[in-house]
Amino acid sequence: MSLVTLTVLVAFFHISVGSDTPCLNHGGTCQDDSTSCSGNYVSNLCSGSASRRCCESSSDPCAAIGGICKDDHLYCAGSYVTGKCSGGTTNRCCTSHNNGGSDQSICDNIQVISRDAWGARGPTHVTTLNHRVHLFFIHHTDGHTCHSETECAGVLKGVQNYHMNSRGYNDIGYSFLIGQDGRVYEGRGWGVVGAHTLHYNSLAYAVSFMGNFMDTLPSPNSLNAAKALVQCGVNKGYIEANYSLFGHRDVGNTDCPGDTLYAEIRTWDRYNYTHSATIQ
Ligand SMILES: [Zn+2]
Repeated sequence: MSLVTLTVLVAFFHISVGSDTPCLNHGGTCQDDSTSCSGNYVSNLCSGSASRRCCESSSDPCAAIGGICKDDHLYCAGSYVTGKCSGGTTNRCCTSHNNGGSDQSICDNIQVISRDAWGARGPTHVTTLNHRVHLFFIHHTDGHTCHSETECAGVLKGVQNYHMNSRGYNDIGYSFLIGQDGRVYEGRGWGVVGAHTLHYNSLAYAVSFMGNFMDTLPSPNSLNAAKALVQCGVNKGYIEANYSLFGHRDVGNTDCPGDTLYAEIRTWDRYNYTHSATIQ
């Protein structure tokens, strides 16, 4: 056996006992090469037997970004991306990453600061929310407010510590939070059950304005961010288009989200308290 052959074998063996990551990074999917592949098969990028090869997806724009085409009413752990799949408009590319803004075609008017970016602790447990919801709740944190990404990161860490250490939650309770800087900060995010609105956590997403809004209104930027976030959720397929929006106090014994903010959201298009009476 020549040194070259040995080197190749060692390299192959090294990859074969590893993961499918090299193929995924290549933009393909690992499958047995007797199966049909719309592009070309590439060797040595997949774990398992030699016949398990990387199906290149040059002709499949969805696979090229690591996604799978499926109907967007189905659960997607990451984000749906439009324009990557053939078929009807609801056949969209489900990616494994919650890209928080790179899907510019449908959420291009909000800036979502990811958990990693603000320094979130990892959750102790995650329960997936695998259906579109009809409800969206508005909260305030009734605590510190913030006006910059740095300041908001500090507030977020405080809220998360309070929820996890004092309240015993698995993670920060809200799906998203909003600062007075007009940025959206990822809480539990899409596709995850929150701990925000008793009896409705599996039926709704929720955003919380950081601060106390009993007497003051959140900044126009932050209000616009909340509206855009909900629309983004609809566009991504996490919220039904005919959703109803409520304040926390509509379904709980609380002042949340504050008198002034509550008066504001009652003027929003999808605010629908009468609907809440039928769902309790
Ligand atoms: Zn609340």
